[in-house]
This record gives sequence, structure tokens and C-alpha cells, in this order.
Amino acid sequence: YNEVAFVGRSNVGKSSLLNTLANNFKLARVSSQPGKTRSINFYLIDGKFFLVDLPGYGFAKVPLSEQKRWRDLIESYLKGRDRLKGIFLLVDSKVGPTEKDLQMKEWLDFYGIPYVVVATKVDKLKQKERRKLEERIREGFKNNSIKIIPFSSKTREGRDRLLKELSHFLES
Ligand code: GDP
Repeated sequence: YNEVAFVGRSNVGKSSLLNTLANNFKLARVSSQPGKTRSINFYLIDGKFFLVDLPGYGFAKVPLSEQKRWRDLIESYLKGRDRLKGIFLLVDSKVGPTEKDLQMKEWLDFYGIPYVVVATKVDKLKQKERRKLEERIREGFKNNSIKIIPFSSKTREGRDRLLKELSHFLES
């Protein structure tokens, strides 16, 4: 089966996003405890592809040994992953891309894995912040052609676009 994966900092809103998608796909409800998602979860969707929930990174106060474990886990997942068609890289709209997000992006570039940025929790933004959202993310990632999907699990904004990009990944 082909795979599409979701990754981002802990607390970025990944579980909420996956629960929002659970209305479209019959995927078992996912729950999250901050900093406790320490393994890779695979959900087979309609017997057609795997939706892959990668553990969150950058949780404060995580010991170095645990960070190394995370890195090894993700690296062994990404390495030579022919069936991985694309990644949704989740970035908190309020926080913007962090150093860790930038590292993740560089990793994806290195492995040649296509990705789309999902700017989560956009319902929290003020109008002015909202207007500058995409520019800010592009600046943060030093990439002007990056694809960004503004998303909210609260209002479900961006869900259709996300599903469309997911199909694009799987068709590629
Ligand atoms: P995860 O650690 O990445 O799985 O993040 P969660 O989905 O557990 O969300 C972390 C926190 O952000 C929770 O308190 C959620 O209620 C909140 N959150 C997640 N998505 C949204 C959103 O779209 N809008 C708002 N306002 N809050 C959100």
C-alpha cells in the first residue's frame, strides 16, 4: 500500500486534524497525550492506502535520549520509503515555523519526499495575522513556492483542500 504521513511538533493539532478526517475515513479515533505519542501509527484507509501518524517532535523537557530515539525512529521510517507518496507537515499558525520544523523540512528535501504545509488552528488568528500567514510561513521555511493549507479542526476550514492534496499525493 502507498502511504501518506502526518508530522509536526507536539501539540500542533495533529490528533484533532486526524479526528476531523475520521469523518471521511473510517479511522479509529485517535487520542493523544502531549509528548506521549512515541510510536508510528498506521491506519489502513478503505483498504487502499495507509495514513501514517508520525510521533510529534519538539516537546519541551523531553530528555536527549528520547529525542535521539525519535530521530532514529523517523529516520528509519523515511529512509528509502518508496511507498511514501507525501507528507503533511503541520505548523501551528500562532507559533509559525520553528527551528525543528525547518529541520524536518530539510530532512524531507534530503530524502526527496513531497510535502505540503498545513497551518493549523487558523481560527485563532486575528485578521491581520491571517493576512500575513502564508508570507510568514514561506519566510520561515525560506521557500517561496511551498504549498500551504490553512486549516482549523474547529471550523473544518481547509479540510477539502487537504483531502484534495491527499489524493494528489496518492496519484503521483
Ligand atoms: P497534537 O499533540 O498535535 O496531537 O495536538 P492536539 O490535536 O491534541 O491539540 C493540541 C491542543 O490544541 C488541544 O488543546 C486542542 O484542543 C487544540 N487544537 C487543536 N486543533 C485546534 C484548532 O483547529 N483550533 C483551535 N482553536 N484549537 C485547536
